[in-house]
Amino acid sequence: MAALYLHLPFCFHKCHYCDFYSVVDTPAPRPGNPRQTTAPNRQPATVDRQPGFTRALIAELAQVAPDATPDPTSDPAAPLRPRTVFAGGGTPTFLRPALWDRLLAALHRGGTLDQTTEFTVEANPETVTPDLMRRLADGGVNRVSVGAQSFQQASLDALERWHRPESVATAVDACRAAGITNLSLDLIFAIPGQTMAMLDRDLDRLLELEPTHLSTYGLTYEPQTPLTARLRVGRVQAIDEDTERAMYARVLERLEGAGFAHYEVSNWARATPDHRHRCAHNLAYWTNANWLGLGPGAASHVNGHRWRNAPNLTRYLAHWDGDTPDTPPPTQDHERLTPDQRVGERLMLGLRLSDGIERAWVHENVSAGHRRAAAIDELLGLDMLEHTPTHLRLTRRGLFVADSVIAKLL
Ligand code: SF4
Repeated sequence: MAALYLHLPFCFHKCHYCDFYSVVDTPAPRPGNPRQTTAPNRQPATVDRQPGFTRALIAELAQVAPDATPDPTSDPAAPLRPRTVFAGGGTPTFLRPALWDRLLAALHRGGTLDQTTEFTVEANPETVTPDLMRRLADGGVNRVSVGAQSFQQASLDALERWHRPESVATAVDACRAAGITNLSLDLIFAIPGQTMAMLDRDLDRLLELEPTHLSTYGLTYEPQTPLTARLRVGRVQAIDEDTERAMYARVLERLEGAGFAHYEVSNWARATPDHRHRCAHNLAYWTNANWLGLGPGAASHVNGHRWRNAPNLTRYLAHWDGDTPDTPPPTQDHERLTPDQRVGERLMLGLRLSDGIERAWVHENVSAGHRRAAAIDELLGLDMLEHTPTHLRLTRRGLFVADSVIAKLL
């Protein structure tokens, strides 16, 4: 098992663009947005579910580690020793420090972290405190991914994202003071109302903080989100496609100029000969390695078999508190990819990487008469794909329409 993902589902507010599984029922104290423009979209809390969740997550961990693995090709008694651990959410840094202590102790007790070289925790800047960062660092966390998204209040308001722009620098300082220097920052562009000058200011602030890694995303209007509902009724105007592409081009130009290597369509690592700042956990996803996800809504992938825990905290807690905790928790979306689908998926994931995918692998897995071979030839002719001596990869032109290029090869 290359990677372990932990889904910590609590947030103190639901950002309006977000479709990740998260719940907003933790009682106060919680950070708020002094400039909030719409009413908080949360229910008043009656029960604090963080302690129960932590117990449940530890119970789920105990079921898969140290002596259980669903990987049929490995020794059934092999302990779970992932090389990477990633705590996402939700807002993992909204879990209270004492509960983090329990979770980290459980991970150590089972030996789960014995071979882990990268342990990332996602953070909302408003919830990062020096105390929590010290506890995380003491518990083995060595990488933090801070959701900056923008450094301008107008853009954060447009996203209904509740943190203050100045909290990002404070969060970065707290991580560094605790000894966590491997820091990633997330940035969203093409936010309603954003201009190129605003994006430039965001990039200025981002680079001033000297992160080791960056993730940059054009805003996506996910179905079923409040932002998309506002778009539908005309209360929000999306940035047009040409401007979004120009913004992506500006991101490429600025980050390359600042010494970052663009190693995946949306991801950047400070350039070093040994690529040590690339996110090893996400690389496990992009290279189709095996990973296990724990927590409500967490997805897993083992040898072409995919599934996810039901995204429902109430059911998750009921399962682990109930009388059948020795069975797996409720899961859904089971899918076993056919060999043909696995080839499509490997192409999809591999071409997102700037290195691309090995030509030898393509030669072996895409036969000459197959529709994918014709699509690859066509895309080479259109200057969307190119061959290097060893790899097939997106061209600069193809990068701007990566999703539609890749869709032709699925
Ligand atoms: S903090 Fe993250 S997970 Fe929570 S609502 Fe906002 S974007 Fe979604």
